Amino acid sequence: MTLKHIEEYRDSEIAEKLIKKIINTSKRNIRLMEVCGTHTVSIFRSGIRSVLPETISLLSGPGCPVCVTDQAEVDAFIELCRMDDVIVATFGDLMRVPGTKSSLQKESAGGRDIRVVYSTFDALEIAKKNPDKNVAFLGVGFETTAPTIAASILSAAQTNVKNFSVISAHKLVPPALEALMAAEKINIGGFILPGHVSVIIGVKGYQAFFDRHQIPCVISGFEPADILHAISVLVEQIETAKPVLENAYPRAVTFDGNTKAQQILNDVFEPADVCWRGIGVIPQSGLKIRERYAAHDAENLFDLQVPDAQTPKGCACGEILTGTKTPPECALYRKVCTPEDPVGPCMVSTEGTCAAFYKYHTA
Ligand code: SF4
Repeated sequence: MTLKHIEEYRDSEIAEKLIKKIINTSKRNIRLMEVCGTHTVSIFRSGIRSVLPETISLLSGPGCPVCVTDQAEVDAFIELCRMDDVIVATFGDLMRVPGTKSSLQKESAGGRDIRVVYSTFDALEIAKKNPDKNVAFLGVGFETTAPTIAASILSAAQTNVKNFSVISAHKLVPPALEALMAAEKINIGGFILPGHVSVIIGVKGYQAFFDRHQIPCVISGFEPADILHAISVLVEQIETAKPVLENAYPRAVTFDGNTKAQQILNDVFEPADVCWRGIGVIPQSGLKIRERYAAHDAENLFDLQVPDAQTPKGCACGEILTGTKTPPECALYRKVCTPEDPVGPCMVSTEGTCAAFYKYHTA
C-alpha cells in the first residue's frame, strides 16, 4: 500500500485495512523492536498495541537519547555545572535525570547556573553575552541532533567565540543495532527503524548492518498508518522469509540521507567507543569532538573528576532499553518510580518507555 498525503496516514479506514492485513498475514509469534522513542510514544498514544494480534509483540528499544545516556555521563554533567565560572546549557529533558547523587534540577535549585535552551545556537548566544564565563552545552542525542550541535561548534570556531564548548555524549543508532543482535535472550524478528535518524543517515546508513544480519528492517514515519504499514511489511517479510531493508518513509528519507549534515558531522566529530546505559560499551557508537576543535571540547577543557557511577538500586532501565523487560516487570514501577518522582531515566523522558507505559498503559 502506497500512501501519498499526510491525511492518509491518519485515516481510520486505511488504518483498519492495515490492521486486517496484519491479522491475516501473521501466523507465527514474532517480536518486533521499535528502536525510536518517538515511535514508542506514537504506538502507545494511538493504541496500536491493543489492535495487534497476540502473535505480535512490540519491544521498545534504546532510542530515547536521555534514557541511554550513561549514569557516568550524567554525573559528569553535574560535575561540570559545579565548576566555577561555568554556565551549563542543556535541553530541558536532561534536567530531572537522576545522577548518582544529584540531578541538574537539584543543582539548579542549589544555585548553579544551568540554562535550559531550545537550540545549541541559544547556548552560543549565551556565550557571546557572557564573555567572562565558560558556557558548556550538554550534547546528548543521536544522528538527528548531532549535526546542529556540530554546526554550533563550527560557528564558534569561525566567529572566535572562545568561551563556548560542548561535552559530547552523542550516540549512533547502527552500532546499537549491532549490539542488540549480539545480545542474548532478546530474540528480535525485525526492526522498525527510526524515521528522524534515517533522514540524516539515509537507507545506506543501515546497509552494512542489513547485509550482515539479513533481518527484516523497515524505516518508518510516525503517524499511526506509517507504523501499521511498517508492521505489516515486517510481518510479511518474516512470514515469507524474505528479509528486506525497506524505506517505508520515502516522503522524508532518501537512500543517501542528508549529505550536507553528514559532512558537518564528519568534520566536527569522529566515532568513539562509548557506554550506553543498560547495554555497556558499544564499539564506535559515540561521537567524540575531533582534535582540531579541541578548543570547544568541554572534556578537554575541564578536568572532570567523576567518581564511579552507581545506577539506582532496583531500576531495570537496562533491561527495558534492550527489550528484555517491560516496565511493569520492574519492581519499582508505579510503586516507587513515577513521572513525578522518577528513579530512572526511562521514567523521566517523555520518550522513555516507562513514562509512555505509565501514561498510556492502564493494565
Ligand atoms: Fe527504572 Fe523506574 Fe523504569 Fe523501573 S520503572 S526501570 S526504576 S525508570
